[in-house]
This record gives sequence, C-alpha cells and structure tokens, in this order.
Amino acid sequence: MIDETHAADRTSWIASANGHATFPIQNLPLGVFSPQGGAARGGIAIGESIFDIGAALEADLFSGAAREAAEAASGRTLNPLLEAGPAARQALRRRVGEILDAKGAGIAKIRAISRLVHDASGCVMQLPAAIGDFTDFFAGIHHAHTAGMINRPDNPLMPNYKYVPVAYHSRASSVRTGGGLVRRPNGQRKLPEQDAPDFGPCRNLDYELELGVWIGPGNELGSPIPIAEASRHIAGFCLLNDWSARDIQAWESQPLGPFLSKSLSTFVSPWIVTSEALAPFRMAQPPRPAGDPAPLPHLNDVADQARGCFGIDFQVLLLTPRMRAAGAAPHVLSRANASMLYWTAAQMVAHHTSNGCDLRPGDLFGSGTVSGTVPGSEGCLLEMTRGGRNPVSLPGGETRTYLMDGDEVIFRGTARRDGYASIGFGECRGTIGEALALG
Ligand code: MN
Repeated sequence: MIDETHAADRTSWIASANGHATFPIQNLPLGVFSPQGGAARGGIAIGESIFDIGAALEADLFSGAAREAAEAASGRTLNPLLEAGPAARQALRRRVGEILDAKGAGIAKIRAISRLVHDASGCVMQLPAAIGDFTDFFAGIHHAHTAGMINRPDNPLMPNYKYVPVAYHSRASSVRTGGGLVRRPNGQRKLPEQDAPDFGPCRNLDYELELGVWIGPGNELGSPIPIAEASRHIAGFCLLNDWSARDIQAWESQPLGPFLSKSLSTFVSPWIVTSEALAPFRMAQPPRPAGDPAPLPHLNDVADQARGCFGIDFQVLLLTPRMRAAGAAPHVLSRANASMLYWTAAQMVAHHTSNGCDLRPGDLFGSGTVSGTVPGSEGCLLEMTRGGRNPVSLPGGETRTYLMDGDEVIFRGTARRDGYASIGFGECRGTIGEALALG
C-alpha cells in the first residue's frame, strides 16, 4: 500500500506544494471546485493550487485505468469515482503524482497546458459528492463518558457502548462545505425551572469535532459487508463539524434521539483525503482497557485491529468577533487525535451493514465527537464547560459557555509520521450567524 506516491523526497513543479503543511504532492486529496466563472468539476489540491482533472483529460494526459478513473472524477460530483473503488483511486493517484512530479517526464509540455492548474484562492469549493445518507456515530468514548457524566454520574456509559458502535441517522440535505455561516436555529427549549417549553433561538449552540468518513463502493440490500472487507468500502476522510443545539437536543431527544438539534446543518472540510494517502499513517487500534469485552466476532478482524486506526492530530480553534476586531489569532481550544476513537471506521461500516442495510457511494459517516481524557482535549463545548457550568476563558478576558453570534469555529487535522511527509485535511470553518426569523 506504500508506494512511490508517498516518498518523502518527491517534489512537484508546482513550487507552493513543496514543504506545504497540508497539500504536498504526497497528499493529492480529491474534491469538486468551481473556478471563477466556470462550472463545478473534479480537482486535486496541490499546494496553493488545484489540479483540473478534466483539463488533464482534454490534454490526453491519462490512459488505461487512470483514464477511466479521471473520467469518473471530472464531473460535478465524485460519486462515480467513489463507486469505482480503491484500484481506480490508486490508478488516478499514481498518474497525477507522475504528472505533478518535479522530475516527471515532459514537464515543459505539461506546464504549458492552459487551465491545468487553478489558483485555489480564486476557486469556490463544493461538496465533493452527492450525499445520499449521513450517519453520525458516537465512537469517541471519552466524549461519551464525559457527556454521560453530566446526566448520569453513576453510570455514564450505557451498557451497550462497548458492544455496539452506537449511531443515529442524521440529515444529508443540510451538509455543507465549511467557510460560511451557520444560522442560529430556533427550536423548542425548556429551562429546568420552566413547566413547559417555549420556541426561540437556541441558547446552547455547540460544535462537535468529528472525523468524517466518505463511503466508496456500496453494497446490495441484504448483503452485509464483512469486517475483513470493510476498508475497501472507505474512500477517504474529512473533518466534520456536527453543529449541535444542546438545549433543543436535551428536550427533543427522548426517546428517539437527536433530530432538529443536529439537522440544522453539518459542515465538512471540502477535500477527501483518500485512504491511499493515509496509508502511512495507519496504526494499530489502541488495546481496549483491561476488563472491556472484545468486539463481537463480526466486528473483530486481525488486520483491522492491527492497521485500522489513523494517527490524525486535530485542533479546534475559536475566533470571536472581539478577537477578530483586535487582530488576534484564533485561540486553540482543544487538541485530540483520531486514535482516541473506540471503534475503527471499518467497524462502523461492518456494523452499519450487518443487518443488511445498503450503503451507497458518497454516503457520509461522522465518527462522533473526538475527545481525549485530559483538559484541553474536549471535542465540544458541552464537555469542555461540563454542560455550561464551567465557562472557558479566552485571551482578552472573554469567556464562553456556548457559541455566540459571530464566533468562528475552525477545525484542523494533520497526519504525521517520522520518515513521511505530513499531510493535512485543510480547514473546516464555520461562523455563527444571527438567529433565524421567528416567523
Ligand atoms: Mn455528533
């Protein structure tokens, strides 16, 4: 799985890619972008530029399997490429790596092709795929534990937690690429001292730091994906902000779980960092603490336990209107790592399909909030403030329990390993907009 595309000494003739913290030539993430005045199309991030897959096709830079993959990746959505699976993604990755390689053949001719690369700053990023379904898991065990402590201090983790990769069906229609506003939703809220709820703007608006999982090839209804094959169905990953209206959630969720408190919107980072790009950063799933049950056999695979976890570092940053006005840098609220998840992405796929449910190319999973065990590793404000009881102090003397209008939340993610070029996800940003009209 490690090949020439991961070589740390590979450089690109696109100078901004060399030493780029996020999009060096070793990353080559897939996305859909609109250049200024142009239609949405498939592209690959390289340094501060975007490689136009369709322009490369027109210039006849592909042949064989790479050509088929490029054709599947050149349209308004990447669903056809996601459906095609790992061999197609790898063929595209290897050929685009060659085309962009500083020591590649025919560079002078390639560089002369017009519109082959676009300045990323002049492009608008789109959702990379038409998302049929979005499922949000709850695999961050430290998040589950801390959130559970707020309501059930004696029994924070439900008895199913270490057996079932718990999830709920969330809303695909309101997923957006980050960068814009998320309007404060209205909903039914009930303060503890109120006898009955009222309807109004969410008071406890929160983010959730999650690892997003993009599904590649799907499965037929009635044909579960075995755990040993599950990784073949995972095309790649992104950062995901599961915006959460905590006061609405607390009132509406019993007994069927989150609904309007989550469907208000979900933001993703626009680039799909592929399973191939992340190959060097795979690691063993950390051993379960002594006394925890082993995963049931249909969720337990030797190879998945040995390599199904990813060493991805996450950061959550906050920029308030006052900080912005003062020219201050965003403040790092927390840091966590994807290895803190209790379930692997492959276990999520196997569990999701174990009843015969079909996944389709372009389906999206959220991992659940990623949190660690120490202060400063909480993946949402609910946890960080213990349900709003302990406000967070910010530089400049401000505090927050939950998000205020104008606050901007920024997620960053980077995969690092000695001997390899670090690769990043790009940011997932979102700013809280004023409440929707009450109507
Ligand atoms: Mn969530």
